[in-house]
Amino acid sequence: MSEALLEVRDLTVEFVTRRGTLRALDRVSFDIRRGEVLGVVGESGAGKSVTGSAVIGLIDPPGRIAGGEVRLAGERVDNLAPEALRRVRGKRIGMIFQDPLTSLNPLFRVGDQLVETIRTHTTLSATAARKRALDLLAEVGISAPDKRIDSYPHQFSGGMRQRVVIALALCAEPELIIADEPTTALDVSVQAQIITVLKRLCRDHGTAVMLVTHDMGVIAETADRVAVMYAGRIIEIGAVADVVKNPLHPYAKGLMGAIPTLTGHEGRLSQIPGSMPRLSAIPPGCPFNPRCPAAFAPCPSVRPDLTAYDRHPVACHLYDPAYAPREQAA
Ligand code: SF4
Repeated sequence: MSEALLEVRDLTVEFVTRRGTLRALDRVSFDIRRGEVLGVVGESGAGKSVTGSAVIGLIDPPGRIAGGEVRLAGERVDNLAPEALRRVRGKRIGMIFQDPLTSLNPLFRVGDQLVETIRTHTTLSATAARKRALDLLAEVGISAPDKRIDSYPHQFSGGMRQRVVIALALCAEPELIIADEPTTALDVSVQAQIITVLKRLCRDHGTAVMLVTHDMGVIAETADRVAVMYAGRIIEIGAVADVVKNPLHPYAKGLMGAIPTLTGHEGRLSQIPGSMPRLSAIPPGCPFNPRCPAAFAPCPSVRPDLTAYDRHPVACHLYDPAYAPREQAA
């Protein structure tokens, strides 16, 4: 279960605007192993959703993939023709978006949508596909699926609709699911249920998950590893327990300091001063340098690359032995 299912190398996405070319993703590289849940976290505008869209070839003009490559089980998928890419998206990569109505057609019964998706991607007969749809609805926790299968999406609550979307994403037994803020639109109590269902099903089916969210709590509950993004770059990536407990990058430290604890005895929640730069105003050098309490001499001019100096890869000069401690203190 340890081989890389998804390999993303130097993925770069640009948006061509009247005021110039804006770089939304800057040489992003990461792997996801089979059966693994990789959380991708960051503030709004960090590039996490663009990463998910770029992996599945859903960058609309004026956006474009300007460089890098994406491999699924060793095979390049970023340069496929649109029809071949559509087949990969439906069959081998499932998708779950924030708003369930993005995935569900309000005019069709959920059962018909499930059966159609199953039959598009398998050789099952109509009867067998309906049986599989019922099984999937039961698996995602829809009670009395035989009574609900012929309901329309609007007849389900938001949480139940998102369960149907998870069933829809699993119809073709994909190798990877990309879930983009799958619980953000739901009540907090329902969020936990949906995350539990997603995690259990992916474990049972051996499906890898790229979980995109701004919510570090969701990542801590669900993911095996986490990639922290800032200004279109991955600035730290590692095992969840390690990154949450011992973050290396000053931005990741601020992000982890902002997670409330159950005991509430950890003092005040920390806050990161300032805000994520706009794409048109990303500072040179380390893009975090205007907000960084630890910034030192090279930070405003030298871009730090994601490098494994210590426990896990981080993009920060503080860990680069090339910069002497004396210089860091300056
Ligand atoms: Fe802060 Fe410099 Fe590290 Fe960037 S490279 S996070 S500015 S110390």
